[in-house]
Amino acid sequence: MMRQYELVDRVRRYNPQTDEVLLNRAYVYAMKAHGAQVRASGDPFFSHPLEVAAILTEYRLDDATIVAAMLHDTIEDTDSTREEIDRVFGPEIGGLVDGLTKLKRLDLVSKRAVQAENFRKLLLAIAADVRVLLVKLADRLHNMRTLHHMAAQKRARIAEETLDIYAPLAGRMGMQRLRDELEDLAFRHLMPDAYATIEERLNDIGRKNDLRISAIEKELAEALSAAGIKAEVRGRQKQPYSVWRKMERKSISFEQLSDIFGFRIIVDSDEACYRAIGIVHMRWPAVPGRFKDYISTPKPNDYRSIHTTVVGPGRQRVELQVRTNAMHDIASNGIAAHVLYKEGHVRANEGLNNESKAFQWLRRTIESLADGSSPEEFLEHTKLELFLDQVFCFTPHGRLIALPRGATAIDFAYAVHTDVGNTAAGAKINGLPAPLLTELRNGDEVEIACSEGQVPPSVWETLVLTGKARSAIRRATRDAMRAQYAGLGRQIVTRAFERAGKPFAEEKIKSALPRFARLSVEDVLAAVGRGEMFSGDVLKAVHPEIADDRKVVMPRLGNEAGWFRMKSNPPVVFRVPGISDEADLKLNPIEGFHFGLPVVFAPNGGAVPGDRIVAILARNESVTVYPIQSQELTLFDDKPELWFDARWDIGEDRGPVFASKLLITAINEPGTLGAIATVIGENGANIANVVIELLSPDFRSLTVDIEVSDLKHLSTIVSQLRARPVVSKVERVNG
Ligand code: MN
Repeated sequence: MMRQYELVDRVRRYNPQTDEVLLNRAYVYAMKAHGAQVRASGDPFFSHPLEVAAILTEYRLDDATIVAAMLHDTIEDTDSTREEIDRVFGPEIGGLVDGLTKLKRLDLVSKRAVQAENFRKLLLAIAADVRVLLVKLADRLHNMRTLHHMAAQKRARIAEETLDIYAPLAGRMGMQRLRDELEDLAFRHLMPDAYATIEERLNDIGRKNDLRISAIEKELAEALSAAGIKAEVRGRQKQPYSVWRKMERKSISFEQLSDIFGFRIIVDSDEACYRAIGIVHMRWPAVPGRFKDYISTPKPNDYRSIHTTVVGPGRQRVELQVRTNAMHDIASNGIAAHVLYKEGHVRANEGLNNESKAFQWLRRTIESLADGSSPEEFLEHTKLELFLDQVFCFTPHGRLIALPRGATAIDFAYAVHTDVGNTAAGAKINGLPAPLLTELRNGDEVEIACSEGQVPPSVWETLVLTGKARSAIRRATRDAMRAQYAGLGRQIVTRAFERAGKPFAEEKIKSALPRFARLSVEDVLAAVGRGEMFSGDVLKAVHPEIADDRKVVMPRLGNEAGWFRMKSNPPVVFRVPGISDEADLKLNPIEGFHFGLPVVFAPNGGAVPGDRIVAILARNESVTVYPIQSQELTLFDDKPELWFDARWDIGEDRGPVFASKLLITAINEPGTLGAIATVIGENGANIANVVIELLSPDFRSLTVDIEVSDLKHLSTIVSQLRARPVVSKVERVNG
């Protein structure tokens, strides 16, 4: 096991300014926290975080990352808390350890076979700081290195997960060296036989070609040196796993040297790269189509090199990469090469607004995949975009809940359980009380407070994003609505009984239930309230002796001039025609009418501005205005459909108005229209048009075009309409 001073030594070698006190404090803290815990290998548990920290020193990472590595398992596996780590090590390190804790909880999720691709993206989304991912990858690398201590079944799962998720993630982050090792270890565990075969053949070829390889190295080095280029030439053998993958994709011949070996020429400047490639090409012919200049056009992840294949010594095809040391650093260490200590501190929790250079780099990598020419990359990117539409949150027990971006704590509550959603009364997000409508962010821990007997407000239905929440809310509000409809139905049926001179009693309906094909009295009443059953039918079912003398009173129809129009067939429609133009609106002294109709004042009425007034539609294509107290109005008592509320439009400054349409379902009885018009008029809105349809003997629908000043104005009217006993439903009609 690595000792404390060894770790400090390693860090000091690349970072002379390291905070040794901090490193030592982390060492002691983690050792104490993990106490007597042991790993499957029998080693003290603490050896693990220490080794993870050691791996990260190879990438020359900053103190915060090294310390976070030492602490990475404390919150989840020991008594430590985020608060304590914040207190002892500060919020930056606290944030990193917290991120690692969240990722660790994801490991629990992945056991339930989450799709690898999504999981990889999930990692990216949750890690607010790229250093969290670096520690996570080092954590996985150490676990893979010590995998042989685990039970066989567990081993296979971890190795598969490594191949599916962590190795591609390392590749995505440009960390080729780490990726190679992860793949090698995983491949070795998953397919020991295939691994052994490939390794043996690689060694065999290596032995056979040993002389040839060093000859090529020598020839290249001499040619470059003769041209005055300082260069280091390295032959390299491909990894068993990449050979295996290549063999899977297309059967390659093991004998082809160029597929197994490559050479790397490292020089000290960009310019030297081009000079070196010139020397090589002048000496050995280039294989057409294999020359790629990633220096002038870097890969999206900043990979830079010149690639070529030449027909080299002994007519052997030889793959070559030419690059500088700096390019090599990025090619092997990828994003980690950008998180070097010298870059200064990257603060955790800065999120995407003020992101670190390294994170920008990662994002750029992901974004530029959109321009990638390979369809595979493009597909990746498409999926990634889908993924970016999601947020991942946790229950206090660490269960992962995936939601669409923009989802609120209400969606979260329903995702946990319908009952939790229906009774949700409040939320805590990351330990702090927050409104249920709070939009959730990646990694939020959400706790829902429930209260029995709660009914979800129906407005939630329009606010939630998830289908599950929406349908549950609809169901819950439907149950609540049903109770309301039953109340409305009771009112309607009671009146029907009264009109027929029969006392209303629930027992009577109960005894007639078989005739209704309904299960309960409430069902019957709700059906009437909803307009699915008529009060007359209820009456007849209970009192079959009553003759059906019900008449549908047709509204008085207008003349040919088109005052009222009658649609074919029932329902009967009568319509107050056309909205006038702007000029009429201005000339008209009475609000409520924009039809361009002549306005007549009732001769005996004497209405003066300031009087409450009402307008009566008359057959002679005019409206007559009466003060509300006028005796003459009694003449129209039985024709409520002719009544319109009106008010003076003198000396009032009014802002612009906007057309809106309401669909109102109301009980069909005298005065309904008047009541509705009154509500609208009292609120200062214009009625521009009304279409009335008789839905059934009990109900009629009114499509009312009104002009309101704003939404608040409209909502006030809607809620006041809903409060009227005669109104059973008000909906906005859009478009
Ligand atoms: Mn660990």
